[in-house]
Amino acid sequence: MQTSSNRKKMVIGNWKMNGSSTANASLLRSVLPVISRFENVEIALCPPYPYLSAVADLLDDSEVALGAQNLSAELAGAHTGEVSAHMLHDNGCRFVLVGHSERRALYAEDDALVAKKFSTALQAGLIPVLCVGETFAQRQAGETQAIVTSQLSAVLNAVGVDDLVKGVIAYEPVWAIGTGETATPEQAQAVHRHIRQWLATQNHAARADCRILYGGSVKADNAEQLFLQPDIDGGLIGGASLDAMSFVAICSAAQDKTAA
Ligand code: PEP
Repeated sequence: MQTSSNRKKMVIGNWKMNGSSTANASLLRSVLPVISRFENVEIALCPPYPYLSAVADLLDDSEVALGAQNLSAELAGAHTGEVSAHMLHDNGCRFVLVGHSERRALYAEDDALVAKKFSTALQAGLIPVLCVGETFAQRQAGETQAIVTSQLSAVLNAVGVDDLVKGVIAYEPVWAIGTGETATPEQAQAVHRHIRQWLATQNHAARADCRILYGGSVKADNAEQLFLQPDIDGGLIGGASLDAMSFVAICSAAQDKTAA
């Protein structure tokens, strides 16, 4: 059974709809020589679709993995404008974000669609990173645990616990994403512990094995305290992943906080 001390820390950079060929190459020139030396932390980058292939080439010699920000729930066919899980795999992706709160809020992705995307990702050999989290109003109403549990249950009911824990879970309070408001380490740890306890009620082994990342305005100056929490296994990083010094510092905090 794994404990917090032997779940490898993980940091995923979500570039969102930012970047250009030139900016991506420049960012990678700055960060890769440093972060590819970090052996205690698994690192992945999620550029926008059009840059996947070029970023895959730039990552080629490193241990840094490629991920995508979204996928189609459908496997193939007449779905103009969509990108399939197999295409992502074919372009070198190992991970794919599923159910990011921006997808849920801005593109009306509901729990059923998120569950279908999770399942489709697994079928294509990708590791889905399932994002869950409450809005500010839901937190104020004391609904955080219920919301997170229901988002997780939607996927669990669709794929079963054994497949759920083939993915990575990212707890991302909506009120903390891109706002500069971070959950305190104690607030984040409380939700991560709740998720791990909930997993244990489904399957005891799943509790210890599954990696649960925190996302929501993680920066160089708060990463260390977050990553010190026993149930926080790393971070999903938006804005700060676009700044070379910040991203290196966050990866370095994860590298150092892998318990001895
Ligand atoms: C995200 O996009 O998943 C995220 C956590 O963004 P930020 O770090 O900018 O809050």
